[in-house]
Amino acid sequence: MTQPAATQTRIPFLDLAAMHDEVADALDAVWRDVVGSSAFIGGEHVERFEREWAAHLGRRHAVGVANGTDALELALRALGISAGAEVVLPANTFIATAEAIVAVGAKPIFVDVRPDTLLADAAGVEAALTSRTEAIIAVHLFGQPVDMDALMSVARRHGLPVVEDAAQAHGARWGERRAGAFGDVACFSFYPGKNLGAMGDGGAVVTDDAALAERVRSLGNHGRAAGSGQVHHIVGRNSRLDELQAAVLSAKLPRLDAWVDGRRAAAARYREVLASSPVEAVAEAPGAESSHHLFVVRAGNRDDLRSALAAQGIATGIHYQIPCHLQPAYSVYGHERLPVAEQAAAEIVSLPMFPHLVDEQVDRVGAALADLATAPEVLHAR
Ligand SMILES: *Cc1c(COP(=O)(O)O)cnc(C)c1O
Repeated sequence: MTQPAATQTRIPFLDLAAMHDEVADALDAVWRDVVGSSAFIGGEHVERFEREWAAHLGRRHAVGVANGTDALELALRALGISAGAEVVLPANTFIATAEAIVAVGAKPIFVDVRPDTLLADAAGVEAALTSRTEAIIAVHLFGQPVDMDALMSVARRHGLPVVEDAAQAHGARWGERRAGAFGDVACFSFYPGKNLGAMGDGGAVVTDDAALAERVRSLGNHGRAAGSGQVHHIVGRNSRLDELQAAVLSAKLPRLDAWVDGRRAAAARYREVLASSPVEAVAEAPGAESSHHLFVVRAGNRDDLRSALAAQGIATGIHYQIPCHLQPAYSVYGHERLPVAEQAAAEIVSLPMFPHLVDEQVDRVGAALADLATAPEVLHAR
């Protein structure tokens, strides 16, 4: 049996401090640089990070925006998605994916997901296409990339653009390429808790299409064209990555791959220790190299499992409790039941996951779950 919580340290859900310690000097320099320059919006740090982020992904263009939700909305707007058009997305994603579709006046078409990976696959997406579909959003949920070869070939066959929601997939790969390198356009969030996080909000849109990148930049900068000053060519808005956030991201980017390796090692250890417990980890498809943003397991009685872990000082989360098509604000778009996403929403638990999670911590989570195996009414294998 594991020790009672009182004698053990807590295991947090996410520990950002250990990452910040590794780049502490660079972060100090950032603060001095940006304050010293007195340039906070639009400047060398944003330009530099945009170049670095595009290069990291093997893409031609990256445009910094205010957050990941704006990245999705501006990408759809720049693609020219028309009012009343349909945009296909998985039912189980963070609500922002659906928000962006509604924000441009389009209709979200929620599709069900695969029971093993909890990702929408190409066949599921294709079945949801109609003559009104104008785009497909692929969500690399939990950091696991969608099969982008299959999805891009469906999209090409139907002449539809693909937007990647890669907000959880910094550092993930599908085959040889990074998540975010496949779609007509890909969107990232740098919310502090993401794999590459700012110290506030931030986001980016990446693409190989220069005209599309320029439209996103203009939309996020009040409709100005490059160098157009006070001439506003289109009706835009304000959505910009600021200098301080860009400089923080540049300071952290050199560590990203090592941090994802840390997550990967923790995930591998989880899979070992969970083999002797009655919970089941969400599967990783061959060809997918997850960024392990979240490590998600399924259990028959999720709430009891969470309480048992909490009693041992182990923090957990749920991503997400209610699938988008059942959210009150979205029920007007809701139609049929999506049984896989609905059942998963009732069973999923996200275990602690961060780059510096050590073996002993993973083992403690595993031991706590193994203890539950002796209480089958608390947990039953699916
Ligand atoms: C975090 C997230 C977003 C939104 O990003 P913000 O920067 O918080 O606006 C969008 N989609 C997914 C899948 C996310 O996890």
